[in-house]
Amino acid sequence: MVLRVAFKMRVVMKFGGTSVKDGDAIGHVASLVKHFYERGYEIAVVTSAMAGVTDSLIDVSMRLVESGKTTLVKEFIASMTERHHEACRKAIGDEDILERTLVEIDQRHDELEKVLLGIAYLGELSSRSKDYILSFGERLAAPIVSGAICSLGIDSLAITGGNAGIITDENFGRARPLIGVEEKIRTRIQPLMQIKKMVPVICGFIGETESGAITTLGRGGSDYTATLIGAGVDADEIWLWKEVDGIMTSDPKIVKEARVIRELSYREAMELSYFGAKILHPRALEPAIRKNIPVRVKNTFNPDGEGTRIVREIRAKEDVVKAITLIDKVGLINIGGAGVDFASILAETFKLLADNGVGIVMVSQGSSELNCSIVVAREDLARGYRVLKSINNDYLEVNTIEDIAVIAIVGAGMAGTPGVAGKVFSAMGRNKINVIMISQGCSEYNISFVVSTRDAEKAVKVLHSEFELEKIQ
Ligand code: ASP
Ligand code: MG
Repeated sequence: MVLRVAFKMRVVMKFGGTSVKDGDAIGHVASLVKHFYERGYEIAVVTSAMAGVTDSLIDVSMRLVESGKTTLVKEFIASMTERHHEACRKAIGDEDILERTLVEIDQRHDELEKVLLGIAYLGELSSRSKDYILSFGERLAAPIVSGAICSLGIDSLAITGGNAGIITDENFGRARPLIGVEEKIRTRIQPLMQIKKMVPVICGFIGETESGAITTLGRGGSDYTATLIGAGVDADEIWLWKEVDGIMTSDPKIVKEARVIRELSYREAMELSYFGAKILHPRALEPAIRKNIPVRVKNTFNPDGEGTRIVREIRAKEDVVKAITLIDKVGLINIGGAGVDFASILAETFKLLADNGVGIVMVSQGSSELNCSIVVAREDLARGYRVLKSINNDYLEVNTIEDIAVIAIVGAGMAGTPGVAGKVFSAMGRNKINVIMISQGCSEYNISFVVSTRDAEKAVKVLHSEFELEKIQ
């Protein structure tokens, strides 16, 4: 019997890949939930798939489309079943709950096996069936997390995104929630938390169309699920759990002096997630911003630590530069030529890129109107090049550079502070790092520039020390 104490606050907690990588990790997640539940927190959990599962679902589907080998399905299902069974056994202490969960896990695997066989026979994968297949990662993880919480004596229920009220459009692979979703979430989830004193465990990443087809919100979409649920249930805070103490000033693998940032504004956090810091799904903050709900990034190994708070108004004095990030796996397309009507060429360029699903990371055009440089994801580079080559104009030149990386410097305090760009580029010059392309939007929250891949890590290190980010401000 768990003792209830006075209501403290309502929190949506999201656990991602590594935090739910195996049975021990899921057991730890359940103990974290219990820790806060016993202190009077009302909690909804959002879970993503176990680490690597989404990738392996994509991988197996692709291989099935190419090879049509049904033996692959058997092997894959066997290893997935083993992994999820093992997680159940480690995470769920109570025998009855374990049995019940294993049955559910087996049913899901049967269902998955059928779909995969279908893919093998048909040799094709629509974006709709791909979303359905990808949903299994979360739909397998949620019952295990929920079972682990139940076995600690807290009532819990696993719920799919659709059943939680996340109804989306039919844009499979990148679906967007429809208007009115928050109301649906409120009526479905809030009573479970408030009246039944349950901890619902909601599948991250997935939603459902109005006609009941499963959709996904885009890779890393569990964060977005968490903030949607948070906005729906009027959470006091949304906690995104990681294995580090919060959002860092830079990638600690590159800069060993990198440290945790105490507070970020929504805008700064958005700039960071657009810029490859992989902290957040790019749209994840929208629902939190709309409802002004603080988002915290916390460490599963330091649950009572403050983590990083992402809020509307920063309490502390603004630091000019908050973080330096590196985006690799990108490439650059240059288009230009004398004597072309550049405005209409640009219009055509961006339309073609958009129509062909080439996402744009960064753009720069000089005032001479002779040339425009566009950074895209490396995997889109060849396609981007091809579609732009198709523009019918004899004077137009298109070329690409592959070995590049983008460095982004983020901080709201840069707005209106002179000298930041000067400091950045003179540091590059002193260190003999060649700058290939530059861009700063007039919001001035972000200066980004392109260097060659071989200079990228050095550039990050140089800037981290130039702005003294290792010092606690
Ligand atoms: N499992 C999904 C992915 O790997 C969603 C997430 O992790 O947030 O993209
Ligand atoms: Mg994942």
